[in-house]
Order: sequence, then C-alpha cells, then structure tokens
Amino acid sequence: MRTYSANAIVLRRIDLGEKDRILTIYTRENGKLSAVAKGARRPGSKLSGASEPFTYVKMFLSSGHNLDVLTQAEIKESFPNVKESMKGIAYAVYLMELVNSFVDERQPNPELFDTLLSAMYVLESGANPEITARYFELHSLAILGYEPHFEECLRCGAKIKCEKAAFSPSLGGMVCADCGVPPNDAIWVPGAIVSYVQALKNAQPQKLKDFKFPKGALRDLACVLRWHIRYRLEHELKSVDFIDSIAHMQ
Ligand SMILES: [Zn+2]
Repeated sequence: MRTYSANAIVLRRIDLGEKDRILTIYTRENGKLSAVAKGARRPGSKLSGASEPFTYVKMFLSSGHNLDVLTQAEIKESFPNVKESMKGIAYAVYLMELVNSFVDERQPNPELFDTLLSAMYVLESGANPEITARYFELHSLAILGYEPHFEECLRCGAKIKCEKAAFSPSLGGMVCADCGVPPNDAIWVPGAIVSYVQALKNAQPQKLKDFKFPKGALRDLACVLRWHIRYRLEHELKSVDFIDSIAHMQ
C-alpha cells in the first residue's frame, strides 16, 4: 500500500457508519480526492478537527482499493475567526462547494489551490465575505478557463461605459446597449460594474480587507457571477441558498 503526504483543504465531509467520515479534499499535489478518516467521529480522535470543512491540513494518506485512507493529520490552519460568524461559515462553505463543483478528481491545479487558500486567509483577516467571494470567483474562473468578459462588448468591441449593458452567460460576457437585442439569458447591469471587476482582478489579496464597495455594486456583481457560474455548472450551488437565507444577519 503506497503512503504519501499532501497539503489539503477539506471541501466537504459525510458521516460513514458510527465512527468514520468520508472526506472530499482538495490537495495541492494531487487535486481533488476522497479519503476515509477512520474513527474521526470518536470523542478525542486526532482526526476529528482535521476533518472539519475548510480546514487546512498536512495529511498523510495511504492509497486503498476504492478510497484512500487518512492515517495522520497536522492541522495547519483551522480559521477560527471565520468560524465565529454564521456569515463567515456560509461563505467559506460556498468557496469549498465552488471548487468541488468545478474540478474533477485527481487533476492537480496548484494555482487554484493557492488561490483558494489565499481567499480563506483573506476571510480570516476580517475582509468583507461578499467581496472575498467575488474576488475568488473572478480569479478561480480565470484559472479554470471560464473567465467572463466584462471590459468590451462581445458584439462590437466597444468599451463598456457607465450606461447599462447586458450580461449574457451563454456569450460569456457583456453586450452594449447599442448592439440591439441581447440573448434571452442576458441580464441588464450598470456598465460601472466593470470598474469593480477590474479592481478585484488587480487586487492583492492582503489588501482586500480595505476594499469597500457600494451595496448596489456588490449586489450586481453577485448576481452576474452567480448567473455565469450557474450557466457553466448547469445547476445552482446549494450554499447559495444558505447565503441568501442569512443575508439579513450580521
Ligand atoms: Zn456593442
């Protein structure tokens, strides 16, 4: 049985029997994979904390017939500040679900791993979770090759200015108001959204906690990116409903 170590982030966990858990983890070295954490639900188990969602862990695994087995774990970061608020947890779970939905098993992508980990540290630093999520969506979509195009009209090439423009997921970007009827799936948004997208694309992650966006701009960005992601995945992410349900909470 081959044993190996990996830097991992726990994307999700499900209970198995009375004592065990099956983890879906995203590793820097091997991409996404599933592993059994035996005894992780026993009181005092060393694998208990390491199998919590969105924990960053150095894992030692052995490859099994069906699933790999987690044998030892060293927690590198448990993100205690994120766990202090329902909103922090909701957004962290959203980042995990986003990665879990977009990546296939055993397709390593160190850049995506680093971006996810970096976004988690941004959340931990107290940055606005909504701004952090939009930052992560834009950067992860670009890494995955699904980057939406905001700067110019996809039909005529004109720069998108301040008037309204239509965002179409099937086209993968914006259509200006001069270009006639946009596709059926398009939603109208203020052209000003482009400047916020550019700010997020160029942002250093450690500076995100100083970012303040108007509420309307945040709402428009969330709407456009959610629409784009839903089109790409062909389904809505479950954690989006959870985020909506706690939107009124601090
Ligand atoms: Zn146009």
